[in-house]
Amino acid sequence: MLDKVLIANRGEVALRIQRACRELGIRTVAVHSTADTTLKHVLLADETVCIGPPPSSGSYLNMPAIISAAEVTDAEAVHPGFGFLSENADFAERVENSGFVWIGPPPEVIRLMGDKISAKDAMKKAGVPTVPGSDGPLGEDVDENARMAKDIGYPVIIKAAAGGGGRGMRVVHTEASLANAIAVTRVEARAAFGNDTVYMEKFLGRPRHIEFQLLCDGHGNGVYLFERDCSMQRRHQKVIEEAPAPGLSPELRSTMGESCVKACLEFGYRSAGTFEFLYQDGRFYFIEMNTRLQVEHPVTEMITGVDIVREQLRIAAGEKLSFRQEDLSIRGHAIECRINAEDPKTFMPSPGRVDLWHPPGGPGVRVDSHLYSGYSVPPFYDSMVAKLIVHSDSRGSAISRMYVALTEMVVDGIKTNIPLHLEIMQHSAFKAGGTDIHYLEKRLGL
Ligand code: ADP
Repeated sequence: MLDKVLIANRGEVALRIQRACRELGIRTVAVHSTADTTLKHVLLADETVCIGPPPSSGSYLNMPAIISAAEVTDAEAVHPGFGFLSENADFAERVENSGFVWIGPPPEVIRLMGDKISAKDAMKKAGVPTVPGSDGPLGEDVDENARMAKDIGYPVIIKAAAGGGGRGMRVVHTEASLANAIAVTRVEARAAFGNDTVYMEKFLGRPRHIEFQLLCDGHGNGVYLFERDCSMQRRHQKVIEEAPAPGLSPELRSTMGESCVKACLEFGYRSAGTFEFLYQDGRFYFIEMNTRLQVEHPVTEMITGVDIVREQLRIAAGEKLSFRQEDLSIRGHAIECRINAEDPKTFMPSPGRVDLWHPPGGPGVRVDSHLYSGYSVPPFYDSMVAKLIVHSDSRGSAISRMYVALTEMVVDGIKTNIPLHLEIMQHSAFKAGGTDIHYLEKRLGL
């Protein structure tokens, strides 16, 4: 097993990784910005290294500082968590070239999947269904692009090949607005991602977002840990996730899972990864692969009993998967609510001191959070401060359990979106299950 892991992240996920390491007897190095000296995992770490100022560009995205921290602490491996450098192929390469173990897939696979066009192409070749579209980057020829959009059928969506985090996308309804939309998306993509390559896809009107969790060990073994439904989104950001996806047939589940495993093994995947799909009218359309741990991984852990972070650590240490596909089954239903430090109505971030933190409890209730009473949420980072996850034998009882847990959760001193979650748990359409990705914004009147 690994001896010492540097956690190149902060907040809730850094604590999640640290817990998995400590259970395996692995020592941890916490790197942090000057704004994060009081983070829970920093206080609990075996060693800590301050890597820079509060803005993440100088700290959590500062590759030389993180590599130096690994060197001075004699760490063996680096876990990137999610966000920050987790899907940066150059960073993964630098970690490996500096002699450390990268807890994630091979850098070349991150690179392949980081470009949405090459990812889509690879999936198509592996037989994974994709969204009909431009089959490559869009050129400058206005007439050619118009012809393509007409063939695909309006509405279409223009997407940045290097896009992420729900940015760099524009829906186009008519030919009159196409050329301008392509030009604007290009400018935005260049500014945000340093790459102005864009492509075109059919815009699906009322899809659900369903994704498959994969684990591969680098010894030619891969399994799928079933799927999650993450259709509750606002501005392309997930708000609530659940597993399994309501109403998905066992046959389609296994067909899709098997095709994801096959694709992963074909391009030499290793570690945890997720295939994201849009699902509409009984059909799946691949949109992207996330080559890292995901925020919503706990719902999968709850229904399968697999500790995904522990598996990542085992795989990074060179071990084989300790179970096969036939050993896995779905037990009950799990739901996760992302608790953000924000105004529940305006969604404005609400950093500040948490005067009182009281997490809920009881059977089937899990809280992944770095909060404690007296902790101050800094204004520099993502507003997610906790994940509340519940597990029960059925979807209906999981919703009831979530409602009760939300009513127990106390986060005094800052505003959170708990009231929004409480409201959603009572919506009849959410209770019925299977709502599309536009449902939440419509309900919010956005
Ligand atoms: P990102 O990497 O920024 O998360 P994705 O390609 O995963 O981008 O898309 C994010 C979200 O944008 C999807 O979950 C969905 O809500 C919407 N979206 C993307 N492509 C399409 C499409 N072809 N049709 C309809 N909605 C789409």
